[in-house]
Amino acid sequence: SRPVHVVGAGLAGSEAAWQIAQTGVPVVLHEMRPVRGTEAHVTDGCAELVCSNSFRSDDAETNAVGLLHAELRRCDSIIMAMGDRNQVPAGGALAVDRVGFSDAVTKALEEHPLIEIRREEVAGLPPEDWDSVIVATGPLTSKALAEAIGGVTEEDSLAFFDAIAPIVHKDTIDFSKAWFQSRYDKPGPAGTGADYINCPLDKDQYEAFVQALIAGDKGEFKEWEKDTPYFDGCLPIEVMAERGPETLRHGPMKPVGLTNQHQPDVKPYAVVQLRQDNALGTLYNMVGFQTKLKYGAQAEIFRMIPGLENAEFARLGGLHRNTFLNSPKLLDRELRLKALPRLRFAGQVTGVEGYVESAAIGLLAGRFAAAERLGRACPPPPATTALGALLAHITGGHLVDANGGTRSFQPMNVNFGLFPPVEIPREPGVRLRGGAKTLAKKRAYTARALRDLEGWLSPVSQAAE
Ligand code: FAD
Repeated sequence: SRPVHVVGAGLAGSEAAWQIAQTGVPVVLHEMRPVRGTEAHVTDGCAELVCSNSFRSDDAETNAVGLLHAELRRCDSIIMAMGDRNQVPAGGALAVDRVGFSDAVTKALEEHPLIEIRREEVAGLPPEDWDSVIVATGPLTSKALAEAIGGVTEEDSLAFFDAIAPIVHKDTIDFSKAWFQSRYDKPGPAGTGADYINCPLDKDQYEAFVQALIAGDKGEFKEWEKDTPYFDGCLPIEVMAERGPETLRHGPMKPVGLTNQHQPDVKPYAVVQLRQDNALGTLYNMVGFQTKLKYGAQAEIFRMIPGLENAEFARLGGLHRNTFLNSPKLLDRELRLKALPRLRFAGQVTGVEGYVESAAIGLLAGRFAAAERLGRACPPPPATTALGALLAHITGGHLVDANGGTRSFQPMNVNFGLFPPVEIPREPGVRLRGGAKTLAKKRAYTARALRDLEGWLSPVSQAAE
């Protein structure tokens, strides 16, 4: 049959192409790198991770992104399969060797007999004879394509900042001050319970550090960046510092669940954590330290952290643009652009946030496009699943708030707040309170999701139309 065209071989486009090809429908995957680059990508590989190397929590029982991992694995996700094969230790999180991961995804796509990869920019609206297209060009969609889409939607694309966290060479960290430990010694799928490097700060050091961040030399704003709001999940460290002296201590620098092995009796006032960034274990990234400080200022200020006095940086932090659609208004339930239904959208450009979420929307767009080509039904996944909850966030009528007022559409990581309410199963004589109740509720969400996913995947649900 005629191919489906997928534009962009990032997290979403790679997953979409894989899902389509696995149904027997041919795919042409258009990727502009290396012909044209972006502000964040540095390789020409598919599914390059542009910042952190973490897919976040892998706990499918009590965490929404862990649940999404489980659902994606159940749906034959290439992103999860290659993520699992390229794991590095990271406590309860699934973190990957970014090069090994991207190479493995690229190889799987290149070797698939039904996938053709073309290295070219789609620099305007896709030609009319492409009757089924998935646009998965991400937060850094090239200007020519973004303008063309803007023209069809007559809607200004929104934009906000994302910032990149610095990476440190492990052998330049002073382990007479730093130590290895995961918070609460939590072991992960590939971890030992001692996966993170921790650097302690006392009160004086912390306060001086916060002052330095606030005073530090920041990059210039470009004209188009001036009125762009930050996305709360990815605030630059110096912006957090500006919000108040305690903000960092309650955010990325919180000292809980950690004991300084060099001074077990002295409770650290704040802690900087570093997470393994490559399979060799030679590089570690500073968790939550995305920043728009100038490079010189970054090196100077981060070397104030005990243990990092002589740190060498493999990469310093940065700041980048993000483009996404007002999806609830513009897209239908199968991710088609209402104004031009031969175009589907997938990934971060639809207003989900995160690698795993982007891949998830790629998976759905791929399945919808393949079913359409094959004349099969593919109903949206139930809203009780993580996949369905995310889809409902971007395509549902979520622009009305609880008081009936309108609110603006904001990109979102998957979270239980997107799921319909759940009943906690009752046990006779047991009354749950506080933390136990919260935990039981999370378990109820995940159990219901995995059960409903099976229903969605059953042959009855996916029958011929
Ligand atoms: P991408 O992975 O960016 O893929 C889009 C692809 O389309 C790219 O390969 C690009 O080259 C290609 N392309 C663009 N325009 C065209 C065109 N016209 N023709 C052909 N090809 C084109 N998420 C996290 O979970 N953790 C993080 O730490 C994180 N950090 C981020 C840091 C930055 C700087 C940015 C911008 C985003 C970050 N995100 C992070 C958010 C998001 O998860 C990633 O951007 C993710 O890669 C999005 O997946 P995607 O498939 O939608 O887009």
